[in-house]
Amino acid sequence: MPLEILTVPCLSDNYAYLIRGDDGVCLVDAPEAGPIVDALNAKGWSLDVVMLTHHHWDHVDATEDLRRRYGCKVTGPKAEKDKLPPLDWSVSEGSNGGNGDAYTEILDVPGHTLGHIAFHFPRAKALFSADSLMALGCGRLFEGTPEMMHKSLQKMAALPPETMIYSGHEYTLGNARFAVTIEPDNQALQARVAKITAAREAGQPTVPVTLAEELATNPFLRCHIPAVQAAVGLEGASSEQVFAEVRARKDSF
Ligand code: ZN
Ligand code: FE
Repeated sequence: MPLEILTVPCLSDNYAYLIRGDDGVCLVDAPEAGPIVDALNAKGWSLDVVMLTHHHWDHVDATEDLRRRYGCKVTGPKAEKDKLPPLDWSVSEGSNGGNGDAYTEILDVPGHTLGHIAFHFPRAKALFSADSLMALGCGRLFEGTPEMMHKSLQKMAALPPETMIYSGHEYTLGNARFAVTIEPDNQALQARVAKITAAREAGQPTVPVTLAEELATNPFLRCHIPAVQAAVGLEGASSEQVFAEVRARKDSF
């Protein structure tokens, strides 16, 4: 059965995702119960598993409420087990499972937090990346180093380009304003900015997007491109060094 994926806007700019597949219904991140319960009710679905990407409150706050309502299981990163609500299963890279299109691979993608994980559904070609790889951006480095996040992004960038990227926040317009300062002449970026602006004016989410589109426009995935290196005055530097500089500029943008 092909996965049915619902984008659920929560809080002011978070996204949770409901995924229905052969194994039942799972939720990626639990920012706020109300909109998630409403979305489940509208579909007539129950909830089987909550899958947490990292320990920040805006991704986990509704976990216990949902567990009480649905009796669902909760899974999340082993490395953040002590900072998360009680986990039924703690997972890390290599803990794969699920059937059919719901088959899921865990990727360790530290940087934003040290234990941040992403959920990759290779058969369904979907990646739930929360605050690691984001539309036209990447998460802030609250706990990890630039080297860590760069490596995490490289890992996700190597997935099949048709993979759909579902990230954790609606930050795309702000990310776009920064991206155009790095690559003002990137035509794919200009086209994307127009699309994003129109979507936001219509109140539509700007996620998911294909990895191919991210590779063509997201400055954090383009640190090997001469125009990006030149924009931060680091021609010929390693993409890791360029990433660190682009990330630092975004922090003070
Ligand atoms: Zn976060
Ligand atoms: Fe977040």
